[in-house]
Amino acid sequence: MNSKTARLRFAPSPNGYLHLGHAYSALVNKHIADELNGELILRMENIDTIRCTTEFENAIVEDLSWLECDFQKPFRRQSEHFSDYRKAFNELEKLGLVYPAFLTRGEVKEIIAEAERKGKNWPRDPDGVPLYPTDERSLSPVKAKKMIAEGVPYSWRLNMDLARRFLNKELFWYEFKGHETGKIIARPELWGDVIIARKDIPTSYHLSVVVDDALQKISHVVRGADLFQATSVHRLLQEILGYKPPLYYHHPLVLGRDGHKLSKSSKDTSLRSLREHGLSLQDILAILPEI
Ligand code: GLU
Repeated sequence: MNSKTARLRFAPSPNGYLHLGHAYSALVNKHIADELNGELILRMENIDTIRCTTEFENAIVEDLSWLECDFQKPFRRQSEHFSDYRKAFNELEKLGLVYPAFLTRGEVKEIIAEAERKGKNWPRDPDGVPLYPTDERSLSPVKAKKMIAEGVPYSWRLNMDLARRFLNKELFWYEFKGHETGKIIARPELWGDVIIARKDIPTSYHLSVVVDDALQKISHVVRGADLFQATSVHRLLQEILGYKPPLYYHHPLVLGRDGHKLSKSSKDTSLRSLREHGLSLQDILAILPEI
């Protein structure tokens, strides 16, 4: 690839303050963008307009600037581009690959418990969450319309079997690290019927990230290893929607002292509180794994 066209993105969700893990991710992105003589852009993944706030967004921009990761403005905010996601959603709908799913959490639990009582081993996704039951794939459109009209809450799910059969080819992505690139076989079926859009938000994490990476011509996606398995779903959507796939690098996660992934709610690793405790950028760099 022509290195001048390399384009990377750092894509936080402004639903909390950045922690050390985000700082590492931003710095790895910056390092790789510089190495490739490419460009790094910022994208706010704020489709959850209730949990994401302007206050957190401003704090993220400020923290990034303190990290000496300055980004061009304006940057893309997903909440301002719902029509782009709607278009992609409509394509999936036209292909008959999505269906409205009405089961409540309680109903899902009950279905799974019942199956397990009968000795069935209910499948789980790579995060350990039980897959959504597939019975509603065959719900009649008339019945579904009626339920929607009655105001029953629902979301749109991908019929993974149909989507996989629609594509009918081996799916893979290229994972890069330094100068090495490896081919990874994608297995979207492990995730079952993932959510593609919600009733009141015409998108989901999976759909908007794929649409944005394509629209923003991202050539290298650099993000945490916690999203490695999700890339299978992203590759499936990219192929169905006809998008050019980026290369991927899933960097190691910065773990807390307890060995677990850091969370936005743990105050002691937020960049803010570390700064307030007087840590300098050099101190932060010294704590983080080598970039
Ligand atoms: N917005 C996601 C997060 O904050 C990252 C998405 C991505 O890099 O693909 O975890």
